[in-house]
Amino acid sequence: MVAFKTAEDRTLNDIRAIVGETACKSGPDAARYYEDPRGSFTGKDCIVVLPETTQQVSQVVRLCNSAGIAIIPYGGGTGVVAGQLSLDSDAAIILSLERMNRVRSVSPDDFVMVAEAGCVLENIHAEAERHDLMFPLSMASKGSCTIGGNLATNAGGIQVLRHGNARDLCVGIEAVMPSGDVLEELSPLRKNNTGYDLRHLLIGSEGTLGIITAASLTLKPLDPEAVTAFCAITSPADALRVLRALRTAIGNRMNGMELMSGFGVGLVCEHFPTLRNPFADDHPWYLLIDAAGNPGVRDETEAVLAECIEQGFVVDVVMAESEAQRSALWSLREHTPDANRKTGAFCSSDTAVPIGQIDAFVSGTHAAITGVHEGLRTNSYGHIGDGNIHHNVFPPTGISKADFLQAHPGIANRVRGAINEATLALGGSISAEHGIGRLKRQDLQKHASPSKMAVLRQIKQAIDPNNIMNPGALIE
Ligand SMILES: Cc1cc2nc3c(=O)[nH]c(=O)nc-3n(C[C@H](O)[C@H](O)[C@H](O)COP(=O)(O)OP(=O)(O)OC[C@H]3O[C@@H](n4cnc5c(N)ncnc54)[C@H](O)[C@@H]3O)c2cc1C
Repeated sequence: MVAFKTAEDRTLNDIRAIVGETACKSGPDAARYYEDPRGSFTGKDCIVVLPETTQQVSQVVRLCNSAGIAIIPYGGGTGVVAGQLSLDSDAAIILSLERMNRVRSVSPDDFVMVAEAGCVLENIHAEAERHDLMFPLSMASKGSCTIGGNLATNAGGIQVLRHGNARDLCVGIEAVMPSGDVLEELSPLRKNNTGYDLRHLLIGSEGTLGIITAASLTLKPLDPEAVTAFCAITSPADALRVLRALRTAIGNRMNGMELMSGFGVGLVCEHFPTLRNPFADDHPWYLLIDAAGNPGVRDETEAVLAECIEQGFVVDVVMAESEAQRSALWSLREHTPDANRKTGAFCSSDTAVPIGQIDAFVSGTHAAITGVHEGLRTNSYGHIGDGNIHHNVFPPTGISKADFLQAHPGIANRVRGAINEATLALGGSISAEHGIGRLKRQDLQKHASPSKMAVLRQIKQAIDPNNIMNPGALIE
């Protein structure tokens, strides 16, 4: 456990003088900053500071650095590994970037938007579209998560297959380092080999090396044609066959491919009665396929899926005929996290394996989960095109989450451990896209090589010698 130093009244008064009295919150006013989106953790009630400019962030950080006060950067609070929560101490300052929410510029010639860290992802999408462009990073939390949080976690989402992770969509960064110095690297240059790429060091650092205050984001042209298909299949092995056929035929016009279990689609329809499974019969697995490109991509996709039916990889297909149908199909996927929560998921995994190992991964991890406790139910879904399937694990039928956890202390950790072991046995990673945060810090310590841990610590020590940036997240 990391012991935080409590800010003295004098320091807090100085911070209030920098950001303004109303830009400091505490107590009931700040309750939402202590909540975990899945309800798995509760953060301690730290003071929340809301700067409005990079200069204010810099002044606050400089002050905290000299006083030795811990800072926890906060974006939209949608992180699921407790990186934005202070779990052990109320002495840290939560620094929320939400007031830094301006788009500073859009350069259509460079295909670059410069946005402040507190911009909500969905607003960045809308701003790009106003310029007939798009920003392809997308995920179910897009209405709340911020671009600063997306970069700090190197978020993935539903279009990684074609466009990559957050890291691949960022050409420049502005950040306040632990000393309070501002690193200004927002240039839209595509070629810039001038020393260590500090942008890439900050991306994925989960607020432990500095506070991202703005970023230059890569925009893409809008696609003239898009296609969304929902397929009924019998196994994850068939999903891989479909993926291979589509990638061979339409190449990098595939945006993404999401696997959904029949159990999970049933939960979504049960908890959200306005949503419905487009097939009359239930199937064990479904695939949501999204592709876009020049005119013709729809016909080509349809032809590949018809061939897959012919070969027996796909049982049935529904092609979206309109934007409304497209969003109805995506709604099934986007409501999955909420359906899991409402059903009482007590463990949610985020691991990745090489794509070719997906079938072995699903069967191996399911066996590992029921090996911990027979009767556990699992909804497996997610980004199969990236080898990244999430498992949400529920108590046996008829037992509430609270009763089950009380009767089986530590079971969530044991299930997570079993999934980790099964993932690693297939050459996988214990964190695909959500990061390490506080939830997986000990898992990283356990499974990373000593040489990797040593380098991570050396980097942290060199950049943040007073350990004020999100201490306790990622590494001890
Ligand atoms: C319903 C749901 C669906 C999701 N789907 C996906 C998905 O498909 N793919 C995926 O990758 N993730 C997904 N997530 C996880 C989450 O949305 C991402 O991790 C997101 O990138 C977090 O952004 P945020 O702004 O909410 O960050 P926060 O939760 O506020 O913070 C996350 C981490 O980043 C740090 N941080 C935040 N802002 C900054 C900053 N400006 N500078 C430095 N550090 C900062 C925090 O300290 C913390 O460690 C999902 C979450 C939910 C609830």
